[in-house]
Formats: sequence, C-alpha cells, structure tokens
Amino acid sequence: MTTAPDPTLRPLAGVVPAVETLEGGGFRVHRPFPTGRLELLDPFLLLDEMGPTDYRPGEAVGAPDHPHRGFETVTYLLEGEFEHRDSHGGHGVIGPGGVQWMTAGAGVVHSEMPSERIRRHGGRVHGFQIWVNLPAADKMIPPRYQSLTAADLPTVEGDAWRLRLVAGELAGRRGPAATRTPVAVAHLVVEPGGVARLDVPADHNVGLYVFAGGATVPTGAGASTPVGTHELAVWHRAGGGVVVEGPPTADREVEALVLAGAPLGEPVARYGPFVMTTRQELIEAIDDFQAGRMGTIAPTGSA
Ligand code: MN
Repeated sequence: MTTAPDPTLRPLAGVVPAVETLEGGGFRVHRPFPTGRLELLDPFLLLDEMGPTDYRPGEAVGAPDHPHRGFETVTYLLEGEFEHRDSHGGHGVIGPGGVQWMTAGAGVVHSEMPSERIRRHGGRVHGFQIWVNLPAADKMIPPRYQSLTAADLPTVEGDAWRLRLVAGELAGRRGPAATRTPVAVAHLVVEPGGVARLDVPADHNVGLYVFAGGATVPTGAGASTPVGTHELAVWHRAGGGVVVEGPPTADREVEALVLAGAPLGEPVARYGPFVMTTRQELIEAIDDFQAGRMGTIAPTGSA
C-alpha cells in the first residue's frame, strides 16, 4: 500500500531478524542484537528473548553466579517466575509482568534463575533480558537493584492498543524504573486493525521487537513493511513518531517490546559480562573479578 509520505513519521532504518542461540546454563534465546547485522541500539547493548520454554521438574536452567561491570541488566518477565540474587544483597523473585533492574556499575556478582518452585516442579518461562549501557562517567557507580511487580507498571490504553511502561516516558505516561540516562522500555500490544503512534524525542534511538503476531510499520517513504515475530524494526534518528499497526486481517494481536533512549555516542569495549569504554578497563574488570573484588553471593538463607 502506498500513500503520501508523512513528514511527522520517522523513516524506518531497517528490520533485522533475531538469531537463536543458547545462553547461561543452556537456555534458548532469540537475540536481535548484538548480531552480525546489528551491534547495538545505543544505549541498549543487548536484547534477548528468553523462551518461551516449558521445563519439566528438575530441568529449568538459568544463569548462575556471574559478574557484570559497566552497565545495567534488566529482566522483564512475561510468564513464570524468576529469581535474582546478588553480591550487594539484592534479592527478589518476580512473576509475570515483573521487572528486575540491576545497575551493575562498579561490579556485582549475581545469579538469575527460574524460581525454586519452577526448578523443582517445572513450568513455563518467557521473558526478556535487556542490557542498558552506562555513560563512561557512571560506569563505576555503586551497584543498585530495583524490583518491580506487574502492579507497579502503568498501562496506557489507546484505541485497540495498550502500552505497559517499565521505564521512561511514552504516550504521556512514565514507567517506574529509575534510569541513569533517558531510556524508555515498554510492552506494546496492538489488536487487529489497531494503530499505535509513539512519539520519541528526535535525538533518541528507537526499536521495536515483535515477539508475538506480526505488525506492519510505515517506512516513512509512503509505504509499509511487515515486522514479524522475532524481528526488530529500527528507525532513523529524526524528528517525529513511529507507528505500529496491527493488520486488520490478523488472527491475533501483536505483542512487542519498545526500546527507546538517548544514545551515549561513546566507544563500547565488550568482553563477556563486562562492558567498558576501553580495552584497559576490561582488563581491570577481569582482574577485579578474579581477585574477588566484585564480591560473592551470600548463601541462601543468610540474606
Ligand atoms: Mn547477568
């Protein structure tokens, strides 16, 4: 379908597929970035869709004790239960719609696992892990842990669409998670025939990862393009909004994660769980972790 270009919409930069891979203790993820196609969506460093996976009793795996430095890890859970425990005393179990937002800062050791109930009795786990970069000047701030439940997240109801806000401001509402830099994370649902418009500051990056159903998005050149399940749409940094349409003939609603934020525009040096700005800082992170300076997690029951 071709119509006149709408100058109030951002031009679409592209649509990239997620890569399927194994993470942590061997759980399946779909990863739209980083991949060979897309290194990052500054300030977002990584997006993983975990599952959905149906675990039998005794089968559930997660990411046991491991360190991070220089950024923030965010878990947004759709189904199941997830448990976080870290070397700074952070601990929480979240259910569907819950959020664990951990600022690793100068360094932390944490474990991210399906809850003990799911490890013991089995169950379905489906959610997201998002890595949000910290500015160079903030990489060594003290660690922090925020735990949010589904009831903490406000929902904006549109006409045949709705948006649940984890962080930042979109559609006139603000999510509860505290962020170091302007970042928005939200869960968008668009019903068949629905048209959601989200306006994002002109200097912010914005991406849309579809994890159920299929959307169509205007390209900004007067045409539209499909964005299917496990695909990420990325827009150019330009003034104007982004539009997400639920095709009128679709047999189900579209569900997508919206990521928007002010790019840091700084060098990114990555090595596994550490993200700094220089190679030297990575070497220091490895040394500090190996010397035990990121701590250890207190045994269960003593925290
Ligand atoms: Mn982690």
